Amino acid sequence: MSARIMDGRLVADKIKADLRRQIAEIRQSHGEVPRLVNILLGQDGGACAYAKSQRKVAQEIGIEYLLEELPQPITQDDLIAYIRKLNTDPQVHGIMLHKPFPVHIDYRAVANQISMDKDLEGVNVGNIGRMLLGDTHMSPCTPAAVLEHLAFHHIPLRGKEVVIVGASEIVGKPLSLLFLTHMATVTVCHIATTEAGLLPAHVGRADILVVAVGKPHVVRGEWIKKDAVVIDVGINKRDDKIIGDVEFDQARERASWITPVPGGVGPVTVVMLMRNGILAYQQQKLKRA
Ligand code: NAP
Repeated sequence: MSARIMDGRLVADKIKADLRRQIAEIRQSHGEVPRLVNILLGQDGGACAYAKSQRKVAQEIGIEYLLEELPQPITQDDLIAYIRKLNTDPQVHGIMLHKPFPVHIDYRAVANQISMDKDLEGVNVGNIGRMLLGDTHMSPCTPAAVLEHLAFHHIPLRGKEVVIVGASEIVGKPLSLLFLTHMATVTVCHIATTEAGLLPAHVGRADILVVAVGKPHVVRGEWIKKDAVVIDVGINKRDDKIIGDVEFDQARERASWITPVPGGVGPVTVVMLMRNGILAYQQQKLKRA
């Protein structure tokens, strides 16, 4: 029997309804809504498309969303000065940075300048540290979206063999911490796993497999354990089509649940950004009360 599809739009719609309610309450109590600022350096096509979908979801929920395209070229010092201004502006509740960055700017140095309370994507090193200590209330958006998919479909995590393929700072590594807080047994695979010829064996052990690599069909369907849950985070363009990191048709024959690409993790990631915006707003209100 082929796997059931984990439709990201259904997961996103449920969370959006909840966020709309929260925004209505905030508007009623405070006469304002959270204002989020997304900083875009230059005109990267992928980043612009992502920003467009963020703007659309923000409008649906009732959050104010500003896309600040900073004039190019900009120095690292000027960018940091701009972020510090946003940090102290009480009308701004959330800040995010759009990658890729120009090569002359050190992303890590800039990300660490975002106030921890306004850090929508959890990229400040302080927020990364909080996650390590088990404080996951404002987690990076894509890892949070993966967990929301699993919760929506009532898939238990405790004691499960979770295998994550991809160990990036923004997806694989923080996701491994989230799974640990839910008492899963976690294996993280990366390029050296593949070089050692061990990827099929690790993938084959997974009750829950998450793939976030950015290479089309890097995980073959035949490797997947029977009845595994497969979450494909990858987004790749091939022949004008968007495809994932997992061989979907073959994987579907073995898995019990699988996310499609597109329409799986992506729509939920954007909603998680909005949820973080509301959390950031509430956190700042509490501190000022
Ligand atoms: P990234 O920063 O490039 O990280 C990719 C990771 O995969 C690295 O740890 C890399 O290891 C590892 N890797 C590369 N080739 C491998 C191989 N052959 N076998 C095993 N591991 C390998 O990418 P990312 O930002 O995490 O994004 C990954 C994918 O997810 C991309 O397609 C991106 O577009 C997509 N994405 C989707 C969403 C969404 O909402 N749906 C959000 C974020 C990202 P090394 O560093 O050692 O090379």
